[in-house]
Amino acid sequence: MRVVMKFGGTSVGSADAIRQVAAIVSATHRDHEAVVVVSAMNAPDLRTTDSLIAAAHAAAGGDGDAMAHMAPRLLELHMRAAAELASSAECAALESELRALLDYLSDLARSIAVLGELTPRALDLFSGLGERINARLIAAALRGAGVSAQAIDATGLIITDNRYGAASPLMEETTALSHERLLPLLEVGIVPVVTGFIGATRAGVPTTLGRGGSDYSCSILGASLDADEVWFWKEVDGVLTANPKIVPEARSLRMLSYSEMAELAYYGANVLHPKTVQPLVQRRIPIRIRNTFNPDHPGTLIGEGRGDRTARAVTAIKEVSMITVGGPGMLGLSGVAARIFGAVARAHVNILLISQASSEQSVCLAVSRAEAVAAEAELRKELSDEFSDQDVEHIEVLESVVIVAVVGSGMRGTPGIAGRVFGAMGNAGINVIAIAQGSTENNISLVVSAADGDEAVRAIHRGFDL
Ligand code: ASP
Ligand code: MG
Repeated sequence: MRVVMKFGGTSVGSADAIRQVAAIVSATHRDHEAVVVVSAMNAPDLRTTDSLIAAAHAAAGGDGDAMAHMAPRLLELHMRAAAELASSAECAALESELRALLDYLSDLARSIAVLGELTPRALDLFSGLGERINARLIAAALRGAGVSAQAIDATGLIITDNRYGAASPLMEETTALSHERLLPLLEVGIVPVVTGFIGATRAGVPTTLGRGGSDYSCSILGASLDADEVWFWKEVDGVLTANPKIVPEARSLRMLSYSEMAELAYYGANVLHPKTVQPLVQRRIPIRIRNTFNPDHPGTLIGEGRGDRTARAVTAIKEVSMITVGGPGMLGLSGVAARIFGAVARAHVNILLISQASSEQSVCLAVSRAEAVAAEAELRKELSDEFSDQDVEHIEVLESVVIVAVVGSGMRGTPGIAGRVFGAMGNAGINVIAIAQGSTENNISLVVSAADGDEAVRAIHRGFDL
């Protein structure tokens, strides 16, 4: 089997963590072809990517030595781990490589301070350095653990457009290059340790895929190499039935469908971003989310197929406001919905949930609380004529509500699910303010008051015996 696996920043945040990573890779490598993708090191006292970005901005603000001051701390962080994990010859070679990378950026920072300007293109050189450093460190650590490994910069594998800071992959070129460069290594039993987060344009200019983009890198490579499975090693036992801070008895799900994962990600569960895994979902490549610090736990397998005939998980989005536009004149008036949504779009506000009953007396929309004022203002402007005619009678804003989403693809066509959801609310004495369910029936969303949010999540978790 061919496995492409990614380790997040915290999974490689210390020498102990990296030792754990080496053990996982070494065990996998015994039976499978393995490609490793790594994030930058996120140590408790030093977040590599954040500090590189901060140094770049400081340089643009005139502090030409900001990077030169940061460099020794980064060097020390990585070399301290290397000293525990790699031979002294490896350490010496690594140190000179890291010094060269850091010196390059220190020089660049001085030029940026002189120019007084930081372009997105230059910023990508800074923000992507943590991955370059870490791939080298992890490869050395793997060799220290007896695994043949080679660090690879994804600038030579992942070809992207030139949207610096949020580049998208060009899959055809990327597939060709990753075959050309990685398959020969796999054939001779070498584990490629590839930088997450970064790529390069066709012309070879380095880019980044957006913050948190290492997951995306892993998906892109998993898809390009036609992996049998792609594993994301994180700090949790897979995807949970609910946020354990709200529901202490939340447990991890053994299996999840692609669409359930997408619904959960949308509703704020801390899993994989749908865009991130799109290359894998398209090719129907199975995904596993596993815990670096609890590797015996099977984690969650995400793949095709329909879930059980019930709800699988419950999540909540907090800090939401609900706007209701209503009035007797809205009945049968065409174009009102278009104008309402048009106004909200003009305010650049993203709508989280929509509901309108067929009496057409009102349209409710939920938006993030921070954006409610802007949306309301634009709506009042758009509908001012109707206000004077009294077709629209009120625009009401409930400032602080919570959207609770019950997710499960097996809910589709299964009678009684909504009944159980509302029964749970009734038993807990919680008032439901608005309801939405798309016709995909993957998700039932309820709006409840902010004060009821946590209890609503717990009541549903109990009600479905999740
Ligand atoms: N190091 C990058 C970031 O912090 C990418 C990643 O961690 O996925 O955004
Ligand atoms: Mg990260």
